[in-house]
Amino acid sequence: MKHEIFSLKGKVAIITGGYRGIGKAVATYLADAGADIVIWDLLDATEVAKEISQEYGVRATSFICNVTDPDQVAQTVEASAQAMGTLDILFNNAGIGPHTDALEITPDAWKKVMDVNINGIFYVATSFARYLIAHGKGGSIINTASMSGLIVNVPQRHTHYNSSKAAVIQMTKSLAIEWADKNIRVNCISPGYIATDLIKEVRQDWKDEWVSRIPFKRMGKPEELAGAVIYLASDAATYTSGSNIVIDGCYTVV
Ligand code: NDP
Repeated sequence: MKHEIFSLKGKVAIITGGYRGIGKAVATYLADAGADIVIWDLLDATEVAKEISQEYGVRATSFICNVTDPDQVAQTVEASAQAMGTLDILFNNAGIGPHTDALEITPDAWKKVMDVNINGIFYVATSFARYLIAHGKGGSIINTASMSGLIVNVPQRHTHYNSSKAAVIQMTKSLAIEWADKNIRVNCISPGYIATDLIKEVRQDWKDEWVSRIPFKRMGKPEELAGAVIYLASDAATYTSGSNIVIDGCYTVV
């Protein structure tokens, strides 16, 4: 069947930041497409993995891993591979997005955003790629960037976040080129405003302004990102690397 090019059956996917939000939602769709699931998060996602395994009939497990710690990341890649037998897909998604003016952000707060959003993405991608190369395998990495890596969204001030997400887009393209001859594809998605815990605490007048500026006149849902991730992870995308799929209800089009 031709549609089987979208199947992830027999593949193992790591999802970072999978305890909740976009990571958790996308993990359930990857499982529904047949992938075995490994959730990484700062929090213990044992229950999330159990739910996914029961509901979708795939193998699922979880690891506590802080993506800013390169040694812990390398160990967790090995532990994930050992638990599941192999690795094929990485949804490299953990990220943070505080709102602070450039003139007010402390050096430590700036460094924390860069550490999670840039260094974390890099450590996980490179550890995952090292595993694939050591085992003579190809694979697919999907990084979560943001429309904030392409435009400056307002009224919030978050130069740190915008800068970090622009770096993720450029890192995606650079790694895609470095690993083009290794059968490791690297792509990213750039979501617009997605209703998750990340923006739950945001003041209502900002959220109202965001929605008024989105041509679709609503925020996106985490599951509206899943199809793009499945596509990029699957054999439907074997000629696609270094790309950035923008999923933003047309925000960046106008
Ligand atoms: P959430 O805050 O809902 O989920 C993020 C998850 O990542 C949390 O479970 C969090 O753990 C985990 N995490 C944070 N830091 C680390 C770390 N150092 N190591 C491991 N895990 C970590 O956010 P979203 O689901 O909304 O966001 C997911 C990604 O999507 C992020 O990269 C974000 O920048 C991006 N994005 C989100 C948009 C949105 O509108 N929601 C728009 C565009 C991009 P904990 O709960 O312990 O903090």
